[in-house]
Amino acid sequence: MQYIDNILFLILIVVGFGLFFKSLKELTRNVNLGKDIDRSDNKNERWAVMGRVALGQGKMVKRPVAGILHILVYLGFIIVNLELAEIFVDGLFGTHRFLAGVLGLGFYNVFTAVLEVMAFLVAVSIAIFFIRRNIIHIRRLNMKELLGWPKNDANWILVIEFSLMMAFFLMNSSDFVLMTREGDVKGYFPFSQSLFGVFNGFGDTTLHILEKGAWWFHIIGVFFFMNYLYYSKHLHIIFAFPNTWFANLQKKGKFNNLDSVTKEIKLMMDPNADPYAAAPADADPNAVPDKFGANDVFDLNKVQLLNAYSCTECGRCTAVCPANITGKKLSPRRIMMATRDRLEEVGKNINKNGKFVDDGKKLLDDYISREELWACTTCNACVEACPVLIDPLSIIFEMRRFMVMEQSSAPQELNLMMTNIENNAAPWQYNQADRLNWANEN
Ligand code: SF4
Ligand code: SF4
Repeated sequence: MQYIDNILFLILIVVGFGLFFKSLKELTRNVNLGKDIDRSDNKNERWAVMGRVALGQGKMVKRPVAGILHILVYLGFIIVNLELAEIFVDGLFGTHRFLAGVLGLGFYNVFTAVLEVMAFLVAVSIAIFFIRRNIIHIRRLNMKELLGWPKNDANWILVIEFSLMMAFFLMNSSDFVLMTREGDVKGYFPFSQSLFGVFNGFGDTTLHILEKGAWWFHIIGVFFFMNYLYYSKHLHIIFAFPNTWFANLQKKGKFNNLDSVTKEIKLMMDPNADPYAAAPADADPNAVPDKFGANDVFDLNKVQLLNAYSCTECGRCTAVCPANITGKKLSPRRIMMATRDRLEEVGKNINKNGKFVDDGKKLLDDYISREELWACTTCNACVEACPVLIDPLSIIFEMRRFMVMEQSSAPQELNLMMTNIENNAAPWQYNQADRLNWANEN
């Protein structure tokens, strides 16, 4: 029987990790559908940003309640899952609390006590998160883009995490009573021990079933959680790390001008300008991009696609977006969610056909409307607010660039201004030569 347990556990590990790495491969392939972008500069700064923002959760505490609760869940979850090391060894080799022998009983008591305290804090934080979402109805967590799957996804994760913590306490409580009866207690369990009176009423067989059941529930739950990430916004617990590393380190507000356009403008402003000066030495001065801007995920760069997978759907961006606050249709969170939805659809298309087969859809219009895109003031507030350094504005900007440069379909007011710039090198409707006419007025 013991060997059957060990073999089942081994199968669980192989299947759990196998599926997880398959999903990871698919996600990487999807991100690589984007265009190349060079973010290999300032490596030291990038490591520091990742350490501060992803590992240290530096931006989370700007909203202290949610931030502190999130840090507790994050830290607690990591610490409680240190227990996994012990579960793996016990599961594979049939040992019982093998770390007690490695650490010595004194250290092991401290270790198990810390795990229990952290598990308790995680459970309380999760309960508060659930209440904020479903009872207090915090506005940014109950907006219309979250209806349906996103809301269920968030709640499911809370339920899974809470259940894992309960299984942990159940395992410790029943095991503690069994160890006490055998006179061989390993570990100190401040919360589980307090339930001694309840569990001591059960017979040995029931306790063994409870302990083993909770043990299996915990480990199966962890593998389930790991594989569920692929479908969930909780993918950010992995992707936040590369996402912050590859973040845009330039000052906000600095846009990526196109060399070909810059050259044209320079020539327009100064007919004597050298047409080769604006381009890099080895570049073809007349080269133009295949397409200006983006109307589908293939036109976005890899970091923008990584952004889409890293979005936590927290809504901090939307909560500070002036367009959204003033009742416009735009929500930067929805921009990221729609980009991910489209990317996932493209990924499924590739899975099915071996390569992407045109499905007649595009990110622009089918997922993100023009009304949303033109509502943006390009203020960067969403970028500033994002706790994992996502840049929704860069996607909005590329899609607007497509509409303007490929389709000439900007709103009337903008078209007029751009025509004036093109003809008069100024946004007004009169010739440059007439600029100083106002000075002639009496
Ligand atoms: S940049 Fe655009 S999307 Fe972002 S907060 Fe400002 S208006 Fe909203
Ligand atoms: S883009 Fe950033 S701030 Fe906005 S919902 Fe996603 S993670 Fe939150």
